[in-house]
Amino acid sequence: MSAFILDGRAIAETLRKSIAIQAETFLKSEGVRPTLAVILVGNDPASEIYVNNKRRACESVGILSLVHKLSSNTSKESLLKLIHALNEDAKVHGILLQLPLPAHLDASEIIKEINPLKDVDGLHPHNLGALVAGTPQLIPCTPLGCAHLIKSCLPSVRGKTCVIIGRSILVGKPLALLLTSMDATVTLAHSKTTHLAEVCRKADILVSAVGKPALVTQEFIKPGAVVIDVGINRVTQVDGTTRLVGDVDFIPAQKIAGFITPVPGGVGPMTIACLLENTLKAAKQGLGFRHQ
Ligand code: NAD
Repeated sequence: MSAFILDGRAIAETLRKSIAIQAETFLKSEGVRPTLAVILVGNDPASEIYVNNKRRACESVGILSLVHKLSSNTSKESLLKLIHALNEDAKVHGILLQLPLPAHLDASEIIKEINPLKDVDGLHPHNLGALVAGTPQLIPCTPLGCAHLIKSCLPSVRGKTCVIIGRSILVGKPLALLLTSMDATVTLAHSKTTHLAEVCRKADILVSAVGKPALVTQEFIKPGAVVIDVGINRVTQVDGTTRLVGDVDFIPAQKIAGFITPVPGGVGPMTIACLLENTLKAAKQGLGFRHQ
């Protein structure tokens, strides 16, 4: 038997349609278009592509996006000045700081300056703290996207055994907290975990967020498990061309898993859709909008 493929593009499209309807209703009832300010510092080509994709995604659902491009030698003071101005600007509901930043800027110091109510990436200590407290507010987009994917195939995660590989602040840790708040029993594995395959084989839900191609082999997967592949890796093929793969050795894994996400077309599209979801939520919260 072959696993059911969780089509992130299709699930993201459904989410985007719902956001587009809500954004339109919000505009009609409040006279306000949800607005996202995106800050890009420097000219990292991958970041430029991500920012363009986010801008297009905003446009597709009726969210206004304002991109602020700053040069790679922008000082901390100038960047903070912009963030403080956006914090004060009532017309801006979400602020996204595209990462990574140039080496002279410390992302965690800068993120702390974003108004937590506008922190659509969910990375401000206030929002991470709310996750720890079990009262999630703005949830980081990739973990939120993973949760949507899991919900699309499991009616509930209550009591399910869940293993997440990778303990970054961006993905693994917040996802562990989110799934815990949803009553799953969560193990957070990482580079120092011993007997990783054995640990993972116990999981009803296995998430890999590492960035190592073919880390997750057949031996890691419990028959019928839900496998969510967050990893994005560019690998060179024998003919010299490159392609994107995840952390999961997809073809053999598909023979054992019950549900599996592809790369590309799994978690990636969900991450962007969740950015839109967070922006709409921030806009509604900003106006004290109650009819959600
Ligand atoms: P990171 O480098 O911050 O964290 C990687 C984690 O993997 C660490 O916690 C480390 O302990 C763990 N790890 C490293 N080697 C390991 C091993 N051999 N066994 C077990 N654990 C190991 O990375 P990140 O920012 O969390 O991103 C992880 C991956 O997810 C990357 O490939 C990234 O590109 C991808 N990503 C995808 C999306 C998306 O939207 N699809 C979003 C964010 C990140």
